[in-house]
Amino acid sequence: MTGDSRMGGRAIAEILQRAADGGRISADEALLLYTDAPFHALGEAADAVRRRRYPDNIVTYLIDRNINYTNICVTACRFCAFYRPPKHEQGWAHSLEEILRRCGEAVELGATQVMLQGGHHPDYGVEYYEQLFSAVKAAYPQLTIHSLGPSEILHMAKVSSVSIEEAIRRVKAAGLDSIAGAGAELLPARPRKAIAPLKESGERWLEVMETAHRLGVESTATMMMGVGETNAERIEHLRMIRDVQDRTGGFRAFIPWTYQPENNHLKGRTQCTTLEYLRLIAVARLFFDNIAHLQSSWLTTGKDVGQLSLHMGVDDLGSIMLEENVISSAGAKHRSNLLELIWLIRSADRIPAQRDTLYRRLKVHHTPADDPTDDRVRSHVASNVTPPRRRRSLPVVTS
Ligand code: SF4
Repeated sequence: MTGDSRMGGRAIAEILQRAADGGRISADEALLLYTDAPFHALGEAADAVRRRRYPDNIVTYLIDRNINYTNICVTACRFCAFYRPPKHEQGWAHSLEEILRRCGEAVELGATQVMLQGGHHPDYGVEYYEQLFSAVKAAYPQLTIHSLGPSEILHMAKVSSVSIEEAIRRVKAAGLDSIAGAGAELLPARPRKAIAPLKESGERWLEVMETAHRLGVESTATMMMGVGETNAERIEHLRMIRDVQDRTGGFRAFIPWTYQPENNHLKGRTQCTTLEYLRLIAVARLFFDNIAHLQSSWLTTGKDVGQLSLHMGVDDLGSIMLEENVISSAGAKHRSNLLELIWLIRSADRIPAQRDTLYRRLKVHHTPADDPTDDRVRSHVASNVTPPRRRRSLPVVTS
């Protein structure tokens, strides 16, 4: 071992200890941990932070449904397999009745949240969303509307020629409870321009979030990994979010996920290994001393990686996703059900609990006797992209 590497090892150990104890680490230190910290030491430090924040050992999950109102979009992100340009023969827009029917099914299956999400339809201004949210709230006041993303808010403000602030005030008044972290992708300019050249800048994405937080609408923050971004750009994405969070405190959770490569213009494969994903998860827990919750994405990484992430600082496995079409269109094939999600948490030696959008615990499953019995609650019960069941061809018998 050289003198330099011994010093590097000492520096990493000191940074890990400081972060595990709740101290702040810089972006440069986070990058050093991301690239050089021993894997197990990194996970142990991140898990120490989780244990201190959640000493009751609870890991939460959510029952929600992602309902897409349209796949028509003018933004043409290169990584997106969901959208169709205006006038495309496969373009569609759901009626309000159909959206309400889907909300009703979600309520019937115990959902507490809907995520209404869609493309940047050239005709959808603030008025469209006011009608949509007020109709959902009127029909199902028990559902939390955790929906849209900064991109959709910027788009509707442009279509209606109003300010970001006015758009947010109006959709909030109509029933929007919380903004999804969607559309963050990668916030630094270089990778963002490469994958979504027509999308607003990362700074604008953050500006919408900051405005929403100031107006009393909290949100989550996401990150899409695996599209050729550098390690430094991954950490820069975290830094940009943390800086806003220092000013607003409005991000409830951070949720990284991995790019899915099918049916879109980027093609190729996800350039993010399982180890890179888990390391990023752990660094996020250590870096975000100001964001309470860390969610992993079993939908894109698989259930085994989702379960492993519970040992890297994660305290939330996210939603069962009764319906999901956007990421699934690009090839995410993982499916689960409520009982399996609970089992994944419990067999990682954590206590499962159902939460709501605000992370309030609705049901704690201390023992299997507390588990729900409704086996209808499964992911993709009615998604557009649920693949048909594969039929095995029978062997040909010749005489
Ligand atoms: S990611 Fe969203 S904004 Fe981009 S093309 Fe797909 S639907 Fe449109």
